[in-house]
Amino acid sequence: MAGFDIREMMNDIDEAPGKVWFWDLEQAVIDADRCVQCGVCVAACPTDSIGIGEDDLPTLVKMCTGCSLCWDFCPRGGLQYESTWKITGNNETGYTENGLGRVHETYTARVREDIEGAQDGGFVSQLLISLLEADEIDGALVARESETERWKGEAFVATTPDEIRESAGSFYNQTLALGHADFKDYDLPPNPRIAVVGTPCEIEGIKAMQARPWTWGSSRVEAITLTIALLCTKSFNYEKLMLEEVRDKRSVDLDSVGRVDVMKGKLIVQDHDGETIFEEPIKDFHGAALKGCDECADFLGHAADISVGSVGSEDGYSSVLVRSEEGRAAFESVREKLYTRSLDKPDSLYKLDALDKRVAFKSLKRAFDPEAPLFIDYEEHIENYAGTDLAPAEHEAVRY
Ligand SMILES: Cc1cc2nc3c(=O)[nH]c(=O)nc-3n(C[C@H](O)[C@H](O)[C@H](O)COP(=O)(O)OP(=O)(O)OC[C@H]3O[C@@H](n4cnc5c(N)ncnc54)[C@H](O)[C@@H]3O)c2cc1C
Ligand code: SF4
Ligand code: SF4
Repeated sequence: MAGFDIREMMNDIDEAPGKVWFWDLEQAVIDADRCVQCGVCVAACPTDSIGIGEDDLPTLVKMCTGCSLCWDFCPRGGLQYESTWKITGNNETGYTENGLGRVHETYTARVREDIEGAQDGGFVSQLLISLLEADEIDGALVARESETERWKGEAFVATTPDEIRESAGSFYNQTLALGHADFKDYDLPPNPRIAVVGTPCEIEGIKAMQARPWTWGSSRVEAITLTIALLCTKSFNYEKLMLEEVRDKRSVDLDSVGRVDVMKGKLIVQDHDGETIFEEPIKDFHGAALKGCDECADFLGHAADISVGSVGSEDGYSSVLVRSEEGRAAFESVREKLYTRSLDKPDSLYKLDALDKRVAFKSLKRAFDPEAPLFIDYEEHIENYAGTDLAPAEHEAVRY
């Protein structure tokens, strides 16, 4: 049935009280420029009514039933995202305001055999390779470069060590990873075991959905057996960062770029020989960052089984925070392939986490409370956000 006919029909139907529709999420989050492109709403929709538009934002592709689930699980909407932090682990170490969250072990690590293109110490790629070789997982949801757009990361399920190697390195755009959690189109067994590499907001969504099992349409969050968070203070809009800022304003041919990094407060772009094309303070690229990232206080990926980043270790090494029993077991599969030592500079992690939280606490229009219930009512959100610079967009959303 064409979208127009459905819209006509819906116009004659009174809205059931208490329902939250996709267009409510659209006005409060997507059109209010707060979406962080995690794809959780796509995964949570039980009728597969949400797809990904050409602008890389969630869009309605079928009739919305008003079930509220896209709202409930959105980390900028109904999900009290910090409440997912306590889901991980066994509560042994407890939450501390400026600590690393629940961690069993922390390391500075580097692979013994180099992996071409790895961003830092190559820990993430080597972990996934070792898990595939030990038959501990059947695939890993990672990011690889788009076939048509240079330096744009796209979600992809790697099922072989070679595919993991080909996907090494960081892309500073969101891939709506959870919008690809149906795992179709891949050669996987009927009950696959999938590791997910994602930004902390994506991991929060997975943990929340796993904590509240439901019929999720075609997405298969139950198949996710390991979550690896990349430490993250902000992500970027691909077009604004790589096309407008890097290619157009700084006249950089993206074919000549061999590495993009955000390090020590700078965006660093290098060529294929490792020569710096330019490096500039990251604040110059503020306009290209996702606005919704300002509200995120989860730099450290608290809800993940393992968190990995560069901050906290010497250049060329990965900082690894092992958070859960699953994380600990996975780490054992890769240990012999790594040089490890105790974390070089834990203070750098504390400092950046504190800064990230300061920005988030200023931006959030609601109370930050890791002990709060998992979900925030739509009405409560509107009360908190109405009249602020993050209020829902005012225009009439398209309903069908
Ligand atoms: C948007 C973003 C912001 C980050 N910000 C910080 C930061 O502020 N501080 C910090 O210490 N570290 C940050 N990182 C993490 C850092 O860039 C490295 O990814 C991390 O140190 C792992 O390095 P590695 O050598 O162990 O991983 P590698 O062996 O290079 O493997 C990296 C893995 O991540 C996957 N991947 C790459 N990009 C994405 C993506 N966008 N979404 C999902 N998966 C992806 C790759 O496919 C690969 O499997 C950020 C990463 C991203 C993507
Ligand atoms: S932030 Fe995530 S869950 Fe919320 S609208 Fe955007 S993609 Fe959907
Ligand atoms: S800063 Fe937070 S919301 Fe933004 S991409 Fe990173 S984890 Fe997601």
